[in-house]
Amino acid sequence: GHNNLNAKLVLLGDMGAGKSSLVLRFVKGQFLEFQESTIGAAFFSQTLAVNDATVKFEIWDTAGQERYHSLAPMYYRGAAAAIIVYDITSADSFTRAKKWVQELQKQGNPNMVMALAGNKADLEEKRKVTAEEARAYAEENGLFFMETSAKTAANVNDVFHEIAKRLPRA
Ligand code: GDP
Ligand code: MG
Repeated sequence: GHNNLNAKLVLLGDMGAGKSSLVLRFVKGQFLEFQESTIGAAFFSQTLAVNDATVKFEIWDTAGQERYHSLAPMYYRGAAAAIIVYDITSADSFTRAKKWVQELQKQGNPNMVMALAGNKADLEEKRKVTAEEARAYAEENGLFFMETSAKTAANVNDVFHEIAKRLPRA
């Protein structure tokens, strides 16, 4: 039968990794070279049709700065899905992504669908994190992995699509 699902989704990751840009690309099909940094968190919603269901994503785009860290549980608690974003040109952002994964494994919903997104894949010449390393980490930790580019739109819809497919059906 046909299912309509509402799914709370949170984006976590280092400031500057491209969380807001991924959301803007997914929701509005746009990209800004000078995306303003997020204060606290921002909310968006977007509906996606997958094979057997219509999924309405309720998206919380968080700020990423350490000073907002204590607010993060408000956004990931009760979330059905999380996208942990790092920037493939920043090893530090990958380290930070792994910390978010650990936090979600400890404190998050155990059935949460988690995606690891290596963003800024268009900046191949500045790459610091290999896809192999990130894929291995994702496999060990039960996330699915994709490299994305909010700038070129590569794999952006695909991440949300894959999450929609993996959400438990009512
Ligand atoms: P956030 O702090 O994680 O929300 O990151 P933003 O979405 O604000 O992006 C930080 C900066 O990186 C902005 O200047 C964006 O234009 C840029 N950016 C985001 N995604 C990409 C991408 O896929 N490729 C490139 N080249 N730049 C990106
Ligand atoms: Mg932001």
